[in-house]
Amino acid sequence: MAGTLTQPTAKTVTTLADGRQLIYYDSGEAVPRDAVDRRPLDPPAHGSEVRLDPATGAWVTVAAHRQARTYQPPAEECPLCPSRDGRHSEIPADDYQVAVFENRFPSLAGPPAALEGVDGLRVSGPGAGRCEVVCFTADHDASFADLDERRARLVLDAWTDRTAELAALPGVRQVYCFENRGAEIGVTLAHPHGQIYAFPFTTPRTARMAARAAEHRAATGRSLFDDLLAAERADGARVVLAGEHWTAFVPFAARWPYEVHLYPHRRVADLTGLDEPQRAEFPRLYLELLRRFDRLFGAGRTPYISAWHQAPAGQEDELALHLELFTIRRAADKLKFLAGVESGMDAFVNDVTPEDAARRLREVAL
Ligand SMILES: [Zn+2]
Repeated sequence: MAGTLTQPTAKTVTTLADGRQLIYYDSGEAVPRDAVDRRPLDPPAHGSEVRLDPATGAWVTVAAHRQARTYQPPAEECPLCPSRDGRHSEIPADDYQVAVFENRFPSLAGPPAALEGVDGLRVSGPGAGRCEVVCFTADHDASFADLDERRARLVLDAWTDRTAELAALPGVRQVYCFENRGAEIGVTLAHPHGQIYAFPFTTPRTARMAARAAEHRAATGRSLFDDLLAAERADGARVVLAGEHWTAFVPFAARWPYEVHLYPHRRVADLTGLDEPQRAEFPRLYLELLRRFDRLFGAGRTPYISAWHQAPAGQEDELALHLELFTIRRAADKLKFLAGVESGMDAFVNDVTPEDAARRLREVAL
């Protein structure tokens, strides 16, 4: 995979005081990004472990060192704001457009090493990989939905560039770009930002999709994701919005009260496979989706999770890049909790029909 900064984008790679990388992405002309991190920092905390659940085959990351991480600091101590007025944050510059840095409290970090116990029931290894933080804007009080299309495009290009670089690291199997938004989701920092996990394993949900795609290929000779997208576009009942190159729909068996999947019409394995027309159209559609989510429950921002599904190494032929966006809010004053049925059995009960959810998302006034 090649790095794909396809619009005029400047990328400046710098190093923080404790050796972590900080990368600035700027639209258009290069901006001098030479501010020095002057904080006295201890080396970042590492030392997680991955373990394979022998009963389900799902990998679990054990990261006990993260308990001390920054938790909901006041705005004047925000580590994601630029460094201004004598206060030093994670970003030494006094302004930025999009900034990406290695997480100081990573769940996954470092090079791969051999797994232990591979012939027994207890398979484990170091929590190898990398965790990054993506700051979408220097504006502490904004949200992604407030960005203009140019900035949203810059974020897309940053995600794409990170995907190419992280996928090339030794031992990385899957790159996952995502955003948690809202205290209800458990966000520990209010500043608009997302995260990227470079996993040393294929995540459980992706592994299930890969198995389904293989079954579908064996049964029909076709791509599961091509067929799924074609069926939703032909039906239309669950389509929320569509452009020339992307369609967003509520999935037939949605798990969450409001859940939308956004697929490019031309199937690609990951963000690096998107062509210029797909990239150019994405910001408008994605921003509209986020704004529709924010209007669902009247005033106030809707908490959401936005999750990029990308093919893991070796699965590029079958798995399709797509974004899954969902909220845990089911009514203005009600959250969907993952209780006994969902948490205990991974069996979801959805209180909103997918067709009603799609209709509401289409009809909500912007
Ligand atoms: Zn901030």
